[in-house]
Amino acid sequence: MIPVTKPYLPDLKEFDEYIASIWERQWLTNNGPLVNELEIRLKEYLNVNHMLYVSNGTIALQIAIKALGLKGEIITTPFSFIATTSSIVWEGCEPVFVDIEADTFNIDPLKIEEAITPKTSAILATHVFGNPCKVEAIQRIANKYGLKVIYDAAHCFGTKYKGRSVYEYGDISTTSFHATKLFHTIEGGAVFTQNPDLLKRMVYMRNFGHHGPEEFVEVGINGKNCELHAAMGLCNLNHADEILAKRKLLYEYYLKRLANVKCSFQQLEANQIYNYAYFPVVFESEELMLNCMNELKNEKVFCRRYFYPSLASLPFLDKTEMPVCDSIVNRILCLPLYHTLTTVDLDMICRIILRVQNYSEPKVFSAEQQEQIMIEKQIDDLLRDFRV
Ligand SMILES: *Cc1c(COP(=O)(O)O)cnc(C)c1O
Repeated sequence: MIPVTKPYLPDLKEFDEYIASIWERQWLTNNGPLVNELEIRLKEYLNVNHMLYVSNGTIALQIAIKALGLKGEIITTPFSFIATTSSIVWEGCEPVFVDIEADTFNIDPLKIEEAITPKTSAILATHVFGNPCKVEAIQRIANKYGLKVIYDAAHCFGTKYKGRSVYEYGDISTTSFHATKLFHTIEGGAVFTQNPDLLKRMVYMRNFGHHGPEEFVEVGINGKNCELHAAMGLCNLNHADEILAKRKLLYEYYLKRLANVKCSFQQLEANQIYNYAYFPVVFESEELMLNCMNELKNEKVFCRRYFYPSLASLPFLDKTEMPVCDSIVNRILCLPLYHTLTTVDLDMICRIILRVQNYSEPKVFSAEQQEQIMIEKQIDDLLRDFRV
């Protein structure tokens, strides 16, 4: 079986050493030494000034909204994971959707101003699939109207924009270290800010508002993470360069092999070092996408409609039409991308997609071509039984 993603797992021996040290100390959580070490090493690796390790990427978003004291309306994107929208609603604010750019899949800055009202307090945008938003344009609008900016940078591990970690843009950036993400700590996340006062506030918020054992300075929540998760992070961080390099190779290989498919790919912003977190494909039609997804499933290759559906169509919100987003959510498919995939796997996946496309077209093949297609299909079917 080929799933859409597989978590990176370090060598068990490497992990065991950390676990043994936890057993020795008997210190499991509450800002333990491994959590501290992970924060220090991540700040170094990512080259960021401030970072707080928290329990997951959703709590990170909620702490960010709370720390900025946001009220009323928050402008956001309909094309993201549900946590981007549900965190806004959970914090008692109202999401106001602005459509996305057809090529980058990120919020369209040209459409933000018309959505601003006297009740707007912030912009919460996602760097979709790790591809940075138009951060300068968004910041200009925020400055003009006195709005705060939060970036959901859950996909951005390792992405740099104009020489700086993408986590350093906006008032606060958040990320996720969930097992499905490129770098993970099983469950986990982080908040980033350049503002020391906000940082201090979030330190308190992460830990019930505790200031020493008997004093409380803030309304807080439990956003802490634990020693076992930090151990996984410390192991995985040793392999982050390797994971990033492998993804780049696979991503570029896909691009080459799919050159003749009627589909488009995400336009990557210039001036960045990209992390190749996902491989999304936008097919010409929903029908072609579904046919490819189903045929791949027959061959034990499991892709994901990611993101689907549009967040502007969630059942607990008023439905808003977002023409660009609506068109993309119906046609987009994320193909498998993880560190242990091989180019042989990718050849097979791309061959299946090309075959589905050829079948769906009234195209005339020579007898020789037809025979070639049949042979390839038979080989793929045969190999399917070995794909466990
Ligand atoms: C994964 C993800 C989250 C949520 O992170 P968790 O750690 O699973 O809570 C939020 N936003 C986006 C865009 C994500 O992909």
